[in-house]
Order: sequence, then C-alpha cells, then structure tokens
Amino acid sequence: MTDTSSYSPIHIIGGGLAGSEAAWQIAEAGIPVRLHEMRGVRGTDAHKTDNLAELVCSNSFRSDDATSNAVGVLHAEMRLAGSLIMSAADRNQVPAGGALAVDRDGFSHAVTQAIENHPLITVVREEVSGLPSKEWDLAIIATGPLTAPSLASAIQAETGADALAFFDAIAPIIHTDSINMDVCWFQSRYDKVGPGGTGKDYINCPMNEEQYNAFVDALIAGDKTGFKEWEGTPYFDGCLPIEVMAERGRETLRHGPMKPMGLTNAHNPTVKPYAVVQLRQDNALGTLYNMVGFQTKLKYGAQAEVIRMIPGLENAEFARLGGLHRNTYINSPVLLDPSLTLKSRPGLRFAGQITGCEGYVESASIGLLAGRFAAAERKGEPLPLPPATTAFGSLLNHITGGHIVSDDEPGKRSFQPMNINFGLFPLLEPGAITKPEGVKRFRGKDKTVMKKQLVAARALEDCAAWLGTVANLPTRP
Ligand SMILES: Cc1cc2nc3c(=O)[nH]c(=O)nc-3n(C[C@H](O)[C@H](O)[C@H](O)COP(=O)(O)OP(=O)(O)OC[C@H]3O[C@@H](n4cnc5c(N)ncnc54)[C@H](O)[C@@H]3O)c2cc1C
Repeated sequence: MTDTSSYSPIHIIGGGLAGSEAAWQIAEAGIPVRLHEMRGVRGTDAHKTDNLAELVCSNSFRSDDATSNAVGVLHAEMRLAGSLIMSAADRNQVPAGGALAVDRDGFSHAVTQAIENHPLITVVREEVSGLPSKEWDLAIIATGPLTAPSLASAIQAETGADALAFFDAIAPIIHTDSINMDVCWFQSRYDKVGPGGTGKDYINCPMNEEQYNAFVDALIAGDKTGFKEWEGTPYFDGCLPIEVMAERGRETLRHGPMKPMGLTNAHNPTVKPYAVVQLRQDNALGTLYNMVGFQTKLKYGAQAEVIRMIPGLENAEFARLGGLHRNTYINSPVLLDPSLTLKSRPGLRFAGQITGCEGYVESASIGLLAGRFAAAERKGEPLPLPPATTAFGSLLNHITGGHIVSDDEPGKRSFQPMNINFGLFPLLEPGAITKPEGVKRFRGKDKTVMKKQLVAARALEDCAAWLGTVANLPTRP
C-alpha cells in the first residue's frame, strides 16, 4: 500500500452494495475513505439491519456462469478487479445450482467487517441531507433506490425536477433477433421522419379483432404483483400499466398504446390491422427494442405468456420484463459524463442503483467503477474507461450514453433501469459465428449459444487487458 498521508479522503454517501464496493476499491488504491451510512441513525422502508451491503430481498446474485450468461460474466470481471462484494459472496455461498446465492447475514457481516477493519476507511453513521460541501472535493453518492428524502430533494434541486424519478415504470425490452419480421414490419406512424428518424423507426406487430380481444382477456386475467404498503400506488396518466388500461374498458388500449392509425401492414397492405403493438429501438446498437407504452405489473411468468400472444412476438426473448417499483434514480445519460461524474458538479460521482442500473451485482459493479475512477482522479493518474466489449463497459455505456433518448416524445424521459444482459454488448464481427468442424447440424439455437460464448470470452479477455493497462481518464466538462 502506498503512503497515504498526502491524500485527503474521498467521501462516499451510502454503505450499500455500491458504496461498500467503492470504498473498498478506493482504500485498496491507498486513499482514505469516509463512508457515511445513515442506518444506525435512520432506517429505510426495506432494510432490516444496520449492516453494510444488506440484501433487502432475494439472497441470489443470479447465474455464476461466466461462459454464456451476462451476469456471470460481470461476476467474473468483478473478481478480476478484486471486488470485496464478490469475495464476501464467494466466502458465504449457499447451494443454489448454477446460481451464486449467499447466506445473507454472513455476507453482509463479512462486508461490514472488511470495511470497518480497513485502516483507510472510517464509517460515519449519519444521514447526509444535502449535496456534499465544497470541502468534500471528491465524493460519490451511492444512496440507492431508497435514498433519504432530504438528499433526494437536494439532488433534484441540483439536477432539475424531471431528472430524478421516484418510481420506475418499465415496459418489457426484447432482443431484436427474437422478433419475427415475417409478421412485423418497420414503420413510423404516418411515416413521420422526425429528428434523427427514417420514417421506419418502429417495429409494428399487427392484431386482428379476435387476437386483440383474446389479448385483452389475458391481460385482465393475468396474475399481478401488488405494491408494498410503503410504496403507495404511483399511477399517473401517461404511465398506467397496460392491464389497468384494459380493465378500464375493452377499447382503451386500442385508443392508447395499441392504436392502429397511420400504419400499413407491409406484409398485407390491404387489410387494416385492428390494433398494433409498437416497439422502439432501445439501445444505440439496435440489439434491443422496448414495447411502447407497455409498462405492466403482471407477474413475470404471466407477462411473458401474454406478450408472446402478440403476433410476431411468439418467440420473444426478453432482455428485461416490465415492472413498476419504488426506485430513486437519476436521468444518467443526460446528467453524467462517461466516468459517472455529475456534469454540473466536477468531483461528484454517482454509483449503484441510483444511476439507473438494476440489481445487487450491477449496483456493486458500478460502485467498483466509480471507486476506481475517483481514486485515479485523486492520484492524478489516468484510468481508461472499461472497453465497450466488457460487461463493465456495456453497463456503463447503457447508463451514460448507450440508451436512446426518444425524439418523438419531447420532454418525456425514457431512460429506465436495466440489468446487465447480452443485448447491451456490441455485436460480434461479421462471420465470427461459424459451424465447428465435425459438427453435422448447426441450428439457430446452437448459433445463439456460440454467440453468447464468444461475447463472454471477448469480454473477459478485454477486461483482463483493461485491468493491466493505464491510459487517459476522461477530462471534466
Ligand atoms: C424492496 C426492494 C427489493 C429488491 N429486491 C432485489 C432483489 O431481490 N435482487 C436484486 O438484485 N436487487 C433487488 N433490489 C434492488 C437492490 O436494492 C439494489 O440492487 C441494491 O441494493 C442497490 O445497491 P445500492 O448500493 O445502489 O443501494 P443500497 O444497497 O440500497 O444502499 C444504499 C445505502 O444508502 C443509505 N442511504 C440512503 N440515503 C442516505 C443518506 N441521505 N445518507 C446516508 N446514507 C443514506 C441506505 O441506508 C443504504 O444503506 C430491491 C430493491 C428494493 C427497494
């Protein structure tokens, strides 16, 4: 460890998954940390203990398969980067098949011990109720989905009223290559070109009257998830779940997100569709499309079943299913630079779920990156961004730039939290997927498996190379 006397501390607000990982990365780089965590003084609606990195719900870190699962690749990259969260998880693993599940108390106890025993980390039990003062020249806000209201108001005052969301209203996101384009077609409503558009910006799925009625019946009958008492019921016009719209009247959806106006079925131009489901490009790579206006609280099983009733989506593969939850997060693609720094406040970074990633592992990984970026900045050392081909880089890119901001709904924020998934990774070079020698049948399913394996292998190679190199940290705006 280097001599630390010349470094002043970096402050971290929030000792959850992201804040704990960020603190560890900074301290391991030889820089003192003051970690401000309010539990012990003030609780949240979901946390039950005062431990750092408490898991508020499931005890699973999901798949640990680094060869063909995106979250497994993220685990592996975090291990390569010396993650405290991953080492505590590995030491507290419980049997869970191919998943990494942990003894939740053992896990958060291990993280708390490691942080409290680190000579360079001081844990301060207090609620930080405003943005860091000027004396905290380098700071990270990692206060998560349940950020205390006082700090949330301060963030809102700094970033603007529309820049902070208190609920996510997520429509399902589908892998483009699982959509049947023999049934669906590309067209914007009334062929409107709009800024940056071509007139063919949406994927459209047509329905006849019978299919529409069956779909509405299935929506109404489908199992729904309720809100927790402390979440309230955050419905507001423009963000109603589709099943609530369906309950309001059989024709409501046909006059709302499923209206067929201004669209001509390219496969059957003479027959007017009775209703149309539209999907809009979700990421710059074009590998993901989101279902326009389809936020839903249907349970995941019911949701996949009902959506696969839509013509053209029978074999839809979901990058994420829809949901509506209490969740505090900022409009990161607009507010943050590529190193997670708030553009309006040099030195102030955001990390974890508040940046618009989703899940324990993703939140911790963004904490890891924010910690490394802040440590490099304190030392005056350059640190390159992780390559876009890595899981780190793909997730960072989603948060800080990869997501497409909708041009046709001016003023409406469309950025929604996301788990890591292969749809966020750049495509492979053309011709990368080839039939292995000696293999007789090489079907679509085999190609999909090979694609995932190649993307995973490329990610880990590039991550290892990144961790061994030093280059330029992006300059402040
Ligand atoms: C009800 C619920 C259930 C969830 N279930 C799952 C699940 O099953 N699986 C999954 O992967 N993810 C789940 N999540 C998401 C999960 O919470 C996050 O993925 C993860 O905990 C986010 O990590 P984080 O570090 O960003 O935030 P957190 O882990 O929430 O940590 C934030 C910390 O900041 C502290 N804090 C807040 N405000 C202040 C302040 N002003 N001053 C000082 N400290 C402050 C909080 O006390 C907390 O310790 C769930 C979230 C909720 C709300």
